[in-house]
Amino acid sequence: MGDLVREVDVAVVGGGPGGYTAAFRCAELGLETVVVDDGKRLGGVCLFEGCVPSKALLHAAALIDQAGQAAELGIEFGPPRVSLDLLRKWVSERVVGTGVEVLGGRAVFEGPRQLRVEGDEPQKIRFAHALVATGSAPLPLAGSPPARERVMDPSAALALPEVPERLLVVGGGYVGLEIGTVYAAIGSAVTLVETTDDLLPGVDRDLVRPLARRVGSRFAAVHLGTRVGEWAERDGRVEARLGGAAPQSFDRVLVAEGRRARSDGIGLETTAVRTDAGGAIAVDDRCRTDESRIYAVGDVTGEPMLAHRAMRQGVVAAEAMAGRPAAFDTVAVPAVVFTDPEIAWCGLGEQEAGRAGRPVRVATVPWAASGRAATLGRADGLTKLVLDPESGRVLGVGIVGPGASELIAEGALAVEAALTAEDLAATVHPHPTRSETLMEAAAAFLRGR
Ligand code: FAD
Repeated sequence: MGDLVREVDVAVVGGGPGGYTAAFRCAELGLETVVVDDGKRLGGVCLFEGCVPSKALLHAAALIDQAGQAAELGIEFGPPRVSLDLLRKWVSERVVGTGVEVLGGRAVFEGPRQLRVEGDEPQKIRFAHALVATGSAPLPLAGSPPARERVMDPSAALALPEVPERLLVVGGGYVGLEIGTVYAAIGSAVTLVETTDDLLPGVDRDLVRPLARRVGSRFAAVHLGTRVGEWAERDGRVEARLGGAAPQSFDRVLVAEGRRARSDGIGLETTAVRTDAGGAIAVDDRCRTDESRIYAVGDVTGEPMLAHRAMRQGVVAAEAMAGRPAAFDTVAVPAVVFTDPEIAWCGLGEQEAGRAGRPVRVATVPWAASGRAATLGRADGLTKLVLDPESGRVLGVGIVGPGASELIAEGALAVEAALTAEDLAATVHPHPTRSETLMEAAAAFLRGR
């Protein structure tokens, strides 16, 4: 270990969305800041193996899908021929780093004021404040299947090693559904298995239904309430028993069963930082841990593990470390599943309100009533508002349909700014667009009062 001890105002551990957003804000606020990242780059899981490559591939999947649907409009294309090399190149060109210099190496805390950097540039860093933004890592498949090279985690699957003839996706959460959608579009027969009784556990059932229908027609099979039983490898293929059924053979398996906070092995035991049983670091509303000089943001602080939450927390932590008043008091962190159709929601869900015994009123507009959705041939969407019955305040918004990822921003603004149904209904929305369904749902609530 080198003798060099560097003194900084802020040491940021991890160069993902949480870490780099905080570092940029710290620099703006005049704090001397160093980012340590074990990949010596800024972007983290989101840029290199998560949000960006998956959305680039989903765009390719959507093109294939739309070309297939064009026949209904009297426009015919031939069957797609996919060049994996060109597709990989195209995706890698979307993954562009920021070019800000980062210290390469693995950071390990040596106490509440110092950390060491292990790797090519070994050194010790003494900090006034540190920010833990080490993110998360995929959970391995329980019961360790035998065929390691045939079993992929999401980042291996996004590297597109091949188009497997038969792909088994273990996990019906958003990552399994998104990557399954990509492989189904480029020609794999996708079988999805999920242990709970529905896709996207915890998400509003009205929103999941249209997606479940479409997935049912695109994937070779979907097995809900089913566990993967025994595994075996035969002739380079994976044989897996799904539930009580006879073993089936697959060329590859994607394990997408969730993620765990990366808080192990980074020396937190030399500090007062506290983690829960799942490894998530406990923070207060300023993103401060139980160790007063150490803050934490992003996936390492637990759910919801989403890049935009990490980025907002990053800004809050930076401002708190600079001594400014700041709090992560966001009520509407939007979540999006970028499948076809897309699902997006924020704030209070109908079923969540029911579980909490909170009276709400729900207003829905099926997209069959939307002129714009009709011009797209997509009447399968739905817009749903969850409202306070007395005040008409918008408490939650859910949208399913193509473009839901963009539309939810209006919902997030409505919830965050405590807008009411009157505000939405009285705002002129452009015609013909899917955004009108938000206005119409609000108007429906007011009519039913
Ligand atoms: P990360 O992005 O995980 O970055 C942490 C960084 O810290 C990494 O570079 C890591 O190598 C480094 N590091 C870890 N330990 C150390 C150490 N000891 N020393 C030095 N460096 C260290 N979110 C969305 O909002 N939208 C999406 O569409 C979306 N799609 C996704 C798709 C997939 C397939 C996956 C896997 C995730 C997706 N996510 C998405 C989630 C998103 O990627 C994460 O929420 C986000 O990256 C979290 O940011 P972070 O800053 O907390 O950590």
